[in-house]
Amino acid sequence: MRYLIVSDLHANLEALRAVLAQSAGGYDRAICCGDLVGYGADPNPVCDWVRLNAAVVVRGNHDRASTGQDDLEWFNPVARNAAMWTLQTLSRENTGYILGLPRGPLSVDTFQVFHGSPYDEDEYVIAAGEAGQAFSYLETRVAFFGHTHVQGGFIWNQSRVETILRTPAHTDSQPLLIDPQCAYMINPGSAGQPRDGDPRAAYAIYDTEAKEVTYRRVLYDVAAAQQKIHAAGLPPILADRLALGR
Ligand code: ZN
Repeated sequence: MRYLIVSDLHANLEALRAVLAQSAGGYDRAICCGDLVGYGADPNPVCDWVRLNAAVVVRGNHDRASTGQDDLEWFNPVARNAAMWTLQTLSRENTGYILGLPRGPLSVDTFQVFHGSPYDEDEYVIAAGEAGQAFSYLETRVAFFGHTHVQGGFIWNQSRVETILRTPAHTDSQPLLIDPQCAYMINPGSAGQPRDGDPRAAYAIYDTEAKEVTYRRVLYDVAAAQQKIHAAGLPPILADRLALGR
């Protein structure tokens, strides 16, 4: 089975379209690690795609915030502004869909899916030390997560934790063979708002038969996404950062 793994779409339709165009025909089922909405100007079309096409979806913190499940006090002013705008913009159908999304971890096939960490959907697993703790909670050798918007993740290898580096700028594809002796926490990166210095939309393909994860990056129409953010009256910094991948 080949899985398309996306995360942190953040209502960026241009990025999602580029991911789907590049990956077309290359996967059997789609998985989403949360944060469908928030920040971007197309929450309904992005949510529609996930609702109709993704086989497994966990919620993210922005999905909770944008459907009134969270106290927005915890958000910075920019994220709060975007969450309130999204709350008013989401259709009833999509609001209902997001409200029903489960918290991770979910078990799929031979892997797990969660937004932040296996024990806290809101935890940012950024450093190897945090990943070391998270690995002890995994029930499978391979897990997919998001939340940090940084493509890569971590390998647990004979009780050492190594960081997987993101796809280099000169290529759009980086394979990772799954060693059955190791454990993996794989972050496909953010499709809709990358923060690892690479503005290209990020995602991954997991081929369970070939035992291979392929990290991917794809250029998309950043200017169109920015224009929509401005037209919606969302904070301009949300448009600016897309060009930087920060
Ligand atoms: Zn996010």
